[in-house]
Amino acid sequence: MKRILSLSLGEVVLKGANRRYFIRRIIQNIESSLSDVGYIDIKPEMGKIQVEIDPAVEETAIKRLRFVFGIVYISPSWCFEKDWDRLKEETVNYIDGLLKEEPEFKTFKVVTKRSDKAFFKDSQEVNMDLGGVILDHFSDRLKVDVHDPDFYLYVDIKNEMYLYHKKIPTYGGLPLGTNGKGLLLLSGGIDSPVAGFLMAKRGVQVDALHFHSYPFTSPQAEEKVMNLAKILARYVVKMNVYSVNLLPIQKELNKHCPPEEMTVLSRRFMMRIANRLADQHGYKSVITGENLGQVASQTIDGLTVMNDVAERIVFRPLIGMDKVDIIRWAERIETYETSIQPYEDCCTVFLPKHPSLRPTVEDMEASEANLDIEALVDASMETLKITTIRAKEDR
Ligand code: ATP
Ligand code: MG
Repeated sequence: MKRILSLSLGEVVLKGANRRYFIRRIIQNIESSLSDVGYIDIKPEMGKIQVEIDPAVEETAIKRLRFVFGIVYISPSWCFEKDWDRLKEETVNYIDGLLKEEPEFKTFKVVTKRSDKAFFKDSQEVNMDLGGVILDHFSDRLKVDVHDPDFYLYVDIKNEMYLYHKKIPTYGGLPLGTNGKGLLLLSGGIDSPVAGFLMAKRGVQVDALHFHSYPFTSPQAEEKVMNLAKILARYVVKMNVYSVNLLPIQKELNKHCPPEEMTVLSRRFMMRIANRLADQHGYKSVITGENLGQVASQTIDGLTVMNDVAERIVFRPLIGMDKVDIIRWAERIETYETSIQPYEDCCTVFLPKHPSLRPTVEDMEASEANLDIEALVDASMETLKITTIRAKEDR
């Protein structure tokens, strides 16, 4: 008998003409996430992906597969030849083992999915007949409850037969890499890591760009961002983190521009540097953790003046979310505890007392007229450091 992690694919199976491409991609992603854990075989089979493993690595393999986007459920299953008598026998063994693990189970329901329409019993017949077999063997322990059973026994009839009772929910989404490479503006806050995760979940291969103001910001603040990047890297397998010192630009802005425009003007420079990296490394999108109305730089006008200098599409997946929902995500993806560590961000250096709430593109351009924008971007690119983080180092 084979031990299989049977993977249910969400939207991926609905993707029409792209379906083959999506499935191929997801298989590659599974291979890379299990490369050091080991697997025996990975193959698509009638709407699912079957990953055969050595039972000894099951727990680790499940942990890894939970990070692979495109999968909605993982079902640890036993797989054997398609044969009715064998199914009856294996079912009895399965339930016998299950009741030892879960002695409080008293009611069940059989749920059969017959993908092989040539099989001589239809799903309903298998449910009824196998239910009968279970009742015969476990009459003192189990009863059928079709509405709210303690457990479901799932039977998949495909090229072979599969038996399982667990469906471990995972993130769903689209296979990583099917929506190009995106550059996440990663601060040390709660929002941007969630934004990066949400776009990775839609298939964007995410790398990160972080701005610091060393020596005004501390090495601990840098380390915090690296720790966030490490957590995010679990979901994207490999992540490049670019760090750039924004201080020379902030000093220039401080000298030449109205203090209330400090934040929005430095945001425009962040975007320009993102443009530059996007040109150099092929990023198709820029991702931010911006959310409408949270702070001054995130009013509709603040967002507009930042957007004005963007040269790529800007994804803002948090734009309409409430803070409580963002925090819930941060907890779920395990970035929250790191994000709330109290290290200063580069944006708190030179923070204006009264940031302008209604900046306009004209005002920005007037203030920037005193600056050599290209030279400032060039100079900050000189401070660029690139670190590559591989997920496996953190698992
Ligand atoms: P976060 O929790 O992500 O810091 P926030 O609610 O604090 O977001 P802002 O500080 O206004 O909001 O930042 C808005 C977005 O701008 C961030 O989500 C991030 O994408 C980007 N950003 C801000 N500061 C930095 C930084 N130091 N380095 C890189 N990106 C930044
Ligand atoms: Mg912030």
